[in-house]
Amino acid sequence: LKVVTLLSGGIDSSTLLYWLKRSGYKVKALTIIYGQKHSREIESAKIIAKRIDVDWTCVDLSALQPLLKSALTRTDVEIPSVPDQTAHYNTLQVTVVPNRNMILLSIAAAYAISNDFNAVAYAAHYSDRGVYPDCRWEFVHALEVALQLANDRPDFRVLAPFVRKTKADIVRLGHFLGVPYELTWSCYKGGERHCGKCSSCRERKRAFQEAGVPDPTAYDTC
Ligand SMILES: [Zn+2]
Repeated sequence: LKVVTLLSGGIDSSTLLYWLKRSGYKVKALTIIYGQKHSREIESAKIIAKRIDVDWTCVDLSALQPLLKSALTRTDVEIPSVPDQTAHYNTLQVTVVPNRNMILLSIAAAYAISNDFNAVAYAAHYSDRGVYPDCRWEFVHALEVALQLANDRPDFRVLAPFVRKTKADIVRLGHFLGVPYELTWSCYKGGERHCGKCSSCRERKRAFQEAGVPDPTAYDTC
């Protein structure tokens, strides 16, 4: 398979990039700017792709930002800080970007087919299934069928190898593969260091703890 993989610069997509490359797939990494409030993770994506010697492209679709209501894109919606131990389904709802993976994978598929590649990949995982419907297996399957029909390419694949793995499983795998996690970026707030309080920072911390892997991240708070 020749695969275009979405790379955000976070833990999950960086691990996926390493896994695809080490598994012997021909890989291109694609980072899409859709109006995120900060660009820190894009810098991480670039560095990670360079580190593992994968062709990297960044496309700026920040013109979409006014259309997408989410705490990740709108300055009038605050990014939630979450308590350490809570089920925060409702808190996380504001971080949903409507139809995000449909949009991003659609573009990735167009890029893949234009280069005679036959698959796209993204790092949907089990821990995200509750809040983010476009990280569920049913969506992966339906999108694969839709892309095959849309392009008359019955062999086209949507890979989501982490869809049944937790974030801790991903960290364990990435640790084994030698993913340079100190170069990845998770914090929704940007800045010089990870804030340690937003939902994304909390999940990052928890994943390292659960995986039993040392967390190389410098947080503002502990
Ligand atoms: Zn944060």
